[in-house]
Amino acid sequence: MDVYLTAEQLQLRAEVRAYLDEVWPPERVATMERDEIYPDDFYRDCARNGWTAIAVPTAFGGRGGNVVDLCVLVEELGKTSISLATLYITGTIFGSHALEICGSDAQRSRYLPAVVSGDARFALAMSEPGAGSDFAAMASRATRTSGGAWRIDGVKGPICGAERAEVIICAARSSADAGSRRRGISLFLLDADTPGVRFERRRFPAMRGLMVDDVILDGVEVDDDAMLGAEGEGWMNLARLMDPERLANAAQAVGVAQAAVDLAVAYAKRREQYGQPIGRFQAVSHPLAESHAEIAAARLLVYAAAHKRDLEGPCPVEASMAKTFANNVAMRAAERALQTGGAAGYESESPFMRRFLEARGCELGGGTSQIQRNIIAHHLGLR
Ligand SMILES: Cc1cc2nc3c(=O)[nH]c(=O)nc-3n(C[C@H](O)[C@H](O)[C@H](O)COP(=O)(O)OP(=O)(O)OC[C@H]3O[C@@H](n4cnc5c(N)ncnc54)[C@H](O)[C@@H]3O)c2cc1C
Repeated sequence: MDVYLTAEQLQLRAEVRAYLDEVWPPERVATMERDEIYPDDFYRDCARNGWTAIAVPTAFGGRGGNVVDLCVLVEELGKTSISLATLYITGTIFGSHALEICGSDAQRSRYLPAVVSGDARFALAMSEPGAGSDFAAMASRATRTSGGAWRIDGVKGPICGAERAEVIICAARSSADAGSRRRGISLFLLDADTPGVRFERRRFPAMRGLMVDDVILDGVEVDDDAMLGAEGEGWMNLARLMDPERLANAAQAVGVAQAAVDLAVAYAKRREQYGQPIGRFQAVSHPLAESHAEIAAARLLVYAAAHKRDLEGPCPVEASMAKTFANNVAMRAAERALQTGGAAGYESESPFMRRFLEARGCELGGGTSQIQRNIIAHHLGLR
């Protein structure tokens, strides 16, 4: 079961698949994850293949692609590895969309051509050790210096790909909340080599190739022109960025789910017990059949929401529904695949285990499943 895509999108999907199958076979992905090897050449290849240009408007040298295009690409990346998929999402999508939503002309001219060339990878630093779901509770502060610059102090984390990013979009409270916790937060474009910025690697069982860090900001000084969007409006601007982020996360989860089921089906055909392939046992085949159907439903929901975003603009409820549904489907698929693999699946570096941990990670990033359900419940008038 497929979604309806244009000839160009089908072409993009085929190109990405052919590249990944050739350059990122499962053994290479396993080594990247085991040895924490950052996939520098993957990002260069994305630029060379024109994929970093997709989210950038044509006026800045990009391809002016839409959210469906991004989902097509990210779903394929997710089938191979969420380190690669998330590097693409954070490196290009966050930066391009944030600049489109609230960047100044000068900021767009400075950064967007560098996104296209692959020279500016972004990281998005919203979360903090004490402020995850409740992002407005952040402790990071931006204060005016006597010279008219901003001084930023705080700890952001966990942040995907931060230590290798060239630019970090950093949220900090710049004024008291004045009655609404959502006001008073500002966004800054921090060049990662600004004095006072340092990184401490976090240890997660998956996404080890991408690297996830805490970003420590200790007296970091930036000029006014580093502010992204109006002062105090950062929460509202990030909320507008969340649709594409959640849809990309959901597309990535569909890719992880499909890869888990494909892996389990292949294993169930070759692994024999009681004199026959285990896939002949209904108890093994039916859960995989069920997941196959669920993945088709998740894919349709994700692409329908992405189409809506492209045609009609912001769609926070549809994006939340797509993310939470795709994440649930991915968790079930990965868990069923793991069970199919038996003890071989349970080994810490088995591809079954990697898929399971990747599905778990998808559920946390971009707002947890509970937070997505809160958004949907709010829409239903229940909160
Ligand atoms: C691998 C990884 C990469 C990440 N990358 C980034 C990144 O690049 N940039 C970034 O800014 N952040 C990133 N994050 C952080 C991520 O966004 C947060 O982990 C997420 O928002 C949850 O915050 P928390 O972990 O502090 O959990 P908490 O907010 O402490 O929540 C703990 C549990 O309580 C539940 N909960 C909390 N509040 C509510 C509520 N109101 N209703 C119902 N349930 C609730 C949550 O759903 C969760 O199950 C990353 C996280 C991970 C794991």
